[in-house]
Amino acid sequence: MISVEEALAKVLGYFDILESEDEEILNCLGQVIAEDIYSTINIPGMDNSAMDGYAVQAQSTIGATRSSPNILRVTGEVAAGYLTKEKVMSGTAIRIMTGAPVPKGADSVVQFEDTDEETRKSQNKPLTEIGIQCEVEKGLNIRLAGEDISSGSLVLNKGTVIRPQEIGVLASLGRKVAPVIRRPVVAILATGDELVDVGNHLPQGKIYTSNTYSLAAQVIRYGGVSEILGIALDNVKALEEKFREARDADLLITSAGVSMGDYDVVKDVLAKHGEVTFWTVRMKPGKPLAFGQLRVGKRIVPHLGLPGNPVSSMITFEQFARPAILKMLGRKDLRKATIHARCESPVRNTDGRRIFARVNVSEQNGEYHARIVGAQGSGILTSMSQANGLMIIPEDAPGVSVGDTVVVQMLDWNVDI
Ligand code: AMP
Ligand code: MG
Repeated sequence: MISVEEALAKVLGYFDILESEDEEILNCLGQVIAEDIYSTINIPGMDNSAMDGYAVQAQSTIGATRSSPNILRVTGEVAAGYLTKEKVMSGTAIRIMTGAPVPKGADSVVQFEDTDEETRKSQNKPLTEIGIQCEVEKGLNIRLAGEDISSGSLVLNKGTVIRPQEIGVLASLGRKVAPVIRRPVVAILATGDELVDVGNHLPQGKIYTSNTYSLAAQVIRYGGVSEILGIALDNVKALEEKFREARDADLLITSAGVSMGDYDVVKDVLAKHGEVTFWTVRMKPGKPLAFGQLRVGKRIVPHLGLPGNPVSSMITFEQFARPAILKMLGRKDLRKATIHARCESPVRNTDGRRIFARVNVSEQNGEYHARIVGAQGSGILTSMSQANGLMIIPEDAPGVSVGDTVVVQMLDWNVDI
């Protein structure tokens, strides 16, 4: 048996960052920017007002107070999105809205609250004049051209992971598309004579192929494109046919057929068509795992053969397929978030494997607590649904007891992905 780390190192050793492509910005969430992005414009493009108020010259406000305002002549109004030809001079003001370009001659903006506009309005006085009720300094409430981004500057570094804020920044530059590392295409093939696809009648003795969907959802969650190949029966011909459909994939994931049962033919077909290593990994659930390269026509497709039990397939995906996908995406941090928690449920480790126990982590008095959720059989998929983390019991530990500090790999971290 090899350790989880050894297996992961072998898997990751095979994959590399994929090539880049131009993608519409809204499709780029979680992708990595493939080139340094420079701006060709200033943002903001012009000096503009940070407040609704009056554009003035600061010197026109000298000596102004609430009880003795300086009265300025209002020569116009300017809203966001418009320019005014009117100039502000000593003793004049232009009414201005947030985001509107600052008129020529003005060097500051007095917000409405520091004027007598409200009083004038309530007295039905025309706003041809305005009382300024405080002194302002030059530059007050003016956002300078280029203060966020100056034309020609480097805005986003190559390697940046795109989050909503980066999408916003790209949009502010006017970019419809961005150069990003493309998403890996992950083909998913379920194997087993017992499997029926969702939406169909379930004959006696059969089960729905839940793995197809949990694995495809994991692929999508971590930024890949899932390509569902459907179900292959447990015979050599059916598998060979299905494997051909994986020819364009960056990774083929199969579920089931890699354990020791009589009908576990995946390993036989793989041995025939590629270089496949079968491992027993020192982990629980998820001991049997296959990894190798499959010859499909002229291409070599890396293949990860996950165990069939629904919990095992999901947990082995998290440990091996997720980092492989992230590496192809150009992501640097391949680790899953872990936390320390106080153990609330004892677990015994009797066979020297690393246990990934399904737990629910909650915060109590500033400390995390991890409680086992339900039965831990590797066929009990609902326990995955109740869990938000995997409590890790090291292979060399006899177990964990209530009150121990344990490491929990979070499946969800504040429900973010
Ligand atoms: P195997 O690895 O073929 O021995 O399968 C182990 C267990 O996983 C068996 O109980 C299978 O019925 C179950 N299983 C295999 N494939 C799937 C699947 N796609 N969805 C749900 N359960 C599956
Ligand atoms: Mg089977």
